Amino acid sequence: MQNRWLRGVITIVLVVLFISTLMDFLNAPGQTPTHAPYSTLVVSAQHHQVATAHVDPQSHVVTWTTPDGKQYRTVYAPNDTQRLSNFLNTEGAKVSIAPTSANSMWLSLLGDILPILVVGGFLFLILRQGQGGNRMMSFGKSQARMLSENLPKVTFDDVAGVDEEKQELEEVVDFLKNPKRYLDLGARIPKGVLLYGPPGTGKTLLARAVAGEAGVPFFSESGSGFVEMFVGVGAARVRDLFEQAKKNAPCILFIDELDAVGRMRGAGYGGGNDEREQTLNQLLVEMDGFGVNEGVIVMAATNRPDVLDPALLRPGRFDRQIVVHRPDLKGRIQILKVHTRNKPLAKDVDLEAIARRTPGFTGADLANLANEAALLAARARQKQITMANFIEATERVIAGPEKRTRVVTDLEKRVVAFHESGHTLVGMMVPHGDPVNKVTIIPRGMSLGYTLPVPEEDRYLVTRDQILDRVAMSLAGRAAEQIVFGEVSTGAHDDLEKSTNWVRQMITEYGMSEELGPMTYGTRQDQVFLGRDLIRQRDYSEEVASKIDQAIRHIVFQQFERAKSILLQHRATLNRLALALLEKETLEGEELREIVFGS
Ligand code: ADP
Ligand code: MG
Ligand code: ZN
Repeated sequence: MQNRWLRGVITIVLVVLFISTLMDFLNAPGQTPTHAPYSTLVVSAQHHQVATAHVDPQSHVVTWTTPDGKQYRTVYAPNDTQRLSNFLNTEGAKVSIAPTSANSMWLSLLGDILPILVVGGFLFLILRQGQGGNRMMSFGKSQARMLSENLPKVTFDDVAGVDEEKQELEEVVDFLKNPKRYLDLGARIPKGVLLYGPPGTGKTLLARAVAGEAGVPFFSESGSGFVEMFVGVGAARVRDLFEQAKKNAPCILFIDELDAVGRMRGAGYGGGNDEREQTLNQLLVEMDGFGVNEGVIVMAATNRPDVLDPALLRPGRFDRQIVVHRPDLKGRIQILKVHTRNKPLAKDVDLEAIARRTPGFTGADLANLANEAALLAARARQKQITMANFIEATERVIAGPEKRTRVVTDLEKRVVAFHESGHTLVGMMVPHGDPVNKVTIIPRGMSLGYTLPVPEEDRYLVTRDQILDRVAMSLAGRAAEQIVFGEVSTGAHDDLEKSTNWVRQMITEYGMSEELGPMTYGTRQDQVFLGRDLIRQRDYSEEVASKIDQAIRHIVFQQFERAKSILLQHRATLNRLALALLEKETLEGEELREIVFGS
């Protein structure tokens, strides 16, 4: 009796919701708007040619109409909703901040009615279960959307300053275009490609560009979207997502924020999170489950590769890893070109000068900068964007709410330039230095702690001299700072730790010290509760301990002095190198050898 009554109420609620959704849908503008560049919107607004504007903060698209009823669609920078709305408002447009495209309308509608649906759905499920009906229905359907249809197409031309990364992805594009050529030769194409690097460097954009270049569908889902409250739902979503992708092969399946699902299993206190682990396991199963050449390429992005479960990086899964770096000077110029190509620039605008002022900026920062400059110009009723606009915009972006941009001061830059030159020069002068092919003063993914776990088996035999050369090279950063600035910075912390560890290993593990002789000190112990960390158990006396310390100190000091003397001997080269670095930010290959050995 009661059941029946409840079912009646739920049915009515659902019917009402359905009808209101349908009405909204029918009311939505039917015609598809033409795409217009951002600058057109700005100029139109200034000439009071914008009658109404619907701003959609979710997809950062504004759909606007002219007084004679023409519809346009313009993409603006994320996080700029408020400013843009205010600007359009002051220019006399009727602004509403509302979802417009059918897709985002559905999404936001979902947001509105989701709580009701969840409650209703639950009651419904309980009732059905009571009647012995089948459970769960389609709870685990993936919400991944086929984005290629409703987003503007992105190609490699839209992603600038990441030439190496693009080159590595070229192969994937080619495979998606001509799978047959690869299949006929029995070539194995990577199944999974992991992009990693700081936020805003264009990882998502690159993945979309691969799909765009190859002309294949693009499925995307964010890792955090998988992690649900109910155990099993995330796993079901993963299964569904792969099913969809396989049906549409060849295609790209993109998982953003992979770390949200891909964290190491069993890490942390309290045994971790069951739901997340199940989801991760499902992901691993799916990646193993499809054949190498089924035409689905799984791409993923993260800025925390260090927390990923090592199982994800094994062959047959994300076995291709691509670091997406912050752009250097040349890269920044190219990115600025991309983001100003549809903007009217005044004659005095010098993109190179702007790029020089913005070391450490990511692609997202530069996109934001270009947009900010356009807004400033618009507010001042200019017809063109001037250099002064760009300079003011730079300051705004640096001081802006998102503090993720690392501001590098001039002094810092000089210190880093000499520090890195020190490493490079000593590395090239000592007989067993590591080959230096590239040196940069851009804060790089790798130097900010993005180090992928390297297989432990990768150790090979090294001689005492090789270790000493490496120690000298590692200490050369600080040595250069001391020579040039007379004081030292904290920037060498990592170098010092590394070289001290090498020397300690040399003495205690490899028996390479004359004084302490060919024997090992301390025993290795696996600490199960610390995962794979090793700690050494002391099995020697205080006296030996202090001898070891002395020996370490002796060798480290010796190598530091050696590095210093090499640098002093080549002082002019050090200066040349540092100046070139300050000028170009990155030096590689020939250019580098030219500066060090040439002339
Ligand atoms: P990530 O995924 O690495 O955090 P996104 O791909 O989401 O970065 O980048 C955000 C926005 O920043 C892009 O939509 C684009 O406008 C801009 N952008 C980032 N990198 C580049 C680049 N290399 N070239 C051009 N634009 C870029
Ligand atoms: Mg992204
Ligand atoms: Zn260093």
